[in-house]
Amino acid sequence: MEYETVIGMEIHAQLATRTKVFCGCSTEFGADPNVHVCPVCLGMPGVLPVLNKEVVNLAIRGALALRAKIQGMSRFARKSYFYPDLPKGYQISQYEESFATDGYVMIDSDGKRKKIRVKRMNLEEDAGKSIHEQSTTLVDFNRCGVALLEIVTMPDLKSPEEAVAYLRTVRRQLQYAGVSSCDMEKGHFRCEPNVSVRPAGSDKLGTRTELKNLNSLKAVERGLRFEIERQIGLLKRGEQVVQQSLLWDEKEQKAAPMRAKEEAEDYRYFIEPDLVPLIVDTPWVEKVKSDVPELADDRAERFVKEYGIRPYDAGVLTSTRELADYYERTIGFHKDPTGLANWISTEVLGLMHEKGIAIRELKARPEHLAELFDLIADGSINKKMAKEIFMEMAEKGMGAKAIVSQKGLRQVTDEKELEDMITRVLSENPKEVERYFGGKDALFGFFVGQVMKASRGKANPKLVNEILRRQLDKRKNSPNSQ
Ligand SMILES: [Zn+2]
Repeated sequence: MEYETVIGMEIHAQLATRTKVFCGCSTEFGADPNVHVCPVCLGMPGVLPVLNKEVVNLAIRGALALRAKIQGMSRFARKSYFYPDLPKGYQISQYEESFATDGYVMIDSDGKRKKIRVKRMNLEEDAGKSIHEQSTTLVDFNRCGVALLEIVTMPDLKSPEEAVAYLRTVRRQLQYAGVSSCDMEKGHFRCEPNVSVRPAGSDKLGTRTELKNLNSLKAVERGLRFEIERQIGLLKRGEQVVQQSLLWDEKEQKAAPMRAKEEAEDYRYFIEPDLVPLIVDTPWVEKVKSDVPELADDRAERFVKEYGIRPYDAGVLTSTRELADYYERTIGFHKDPTGLANWISTEVLGLMHEKGIAIRELKARPEHLAELFDLIADGSINKKMAKEIFMEMAEKGMGAKAIVSQKGLRQVTDEKELEDMITRVLSENPKEVERYFGGKDALFGFFVGQVMKASRGKANPKLVNEILRRQLDKRKNSPNSQ
């Protein structure tokens, strides 16, 4: 029997505010344990939460980034469960009256565009963090009360690849709109997929399980693949899938059920009595909207239309706002959108990857890169030299022209000089010339290579080709002159 997979995703993105959602404590990452805490986020008796307006601003941005409908009124609820890292005994979240609903993102799946629907987006506070050490458990409350945006999809995802594409897209949209850093390593972007399988073509959902503890997109893909295979295996053997939460173990590459006490399904939600309903009116939304930059996918689409580059490249160039800005700024100095798109997505990204740096740390500025392209365009340098010069630019933070004159790297375009070089190469390789005349056309490339080598990469390849062709023709027509 054939099986098909249905995946739903719950994302928690940490909103990029400096202070927590209901108190003025800092959200700084990596501080000593229990430094950023106060009676409010520790849930001491007699204190009242006060909603941080900046959190709402960012939630509005988040909803706009995922094209969701912002509800004029949403309400906070208490989600009750007892766990050591939750000192209040409940988490303030939103339940039936969500902050936003009915959003979507478009993903690329198997070369096709596919719409993934976002069911709801909720505001909530984070819990603390338990640190398990041999026989004891320590708790760090710094994360308690940090603002999260919970994003729940409809079960539109059909494969681990789609799940990863969806996560990438959401992450990009949120980062772009300045909603969250979405840094997975710091836990600023966490996801919990749930997955079920069913006989292909069936419209009844199978029993689902939830995967927790996925710290990277790779882990999401591997975890889902493992769980899908496990479920299909069970069904094939005539066994049942048990609804439960599983912890993914990246080291062991397998998922195991969580201990029973870690699961608390009965949350006994009720309306948070200490907070008034959250009213977000149209003027507020409009005000935030006017500050929101162009969304990532809108920008990618514009790149395709305005600059005529491939959708794939547009996707790469808009993977972060800084990179997209870099690209557009460079085009502002040198109008070759396709050439620059290629260069940035190969050379610039390659270098950033190799050095492990962000674009803002790259010393080769847009005007420098544009200068490099000016030099290629006017024939002063060739592409091969350009790569070398680019590496220097990135190292020294100098413009291309300065490096060219400093290193004497100008391209050889002097015809006489090239003629001499070519004559020399041909007379140094008489056997190859003979074989070339005997019909081995591929040797033409060999001659070009030898001339480029002789010029230490500085010869203008186009001229070399022309002059070489001319010289060979001449020799062929008057073989005695050899
Ligand atoms: Zn606090």
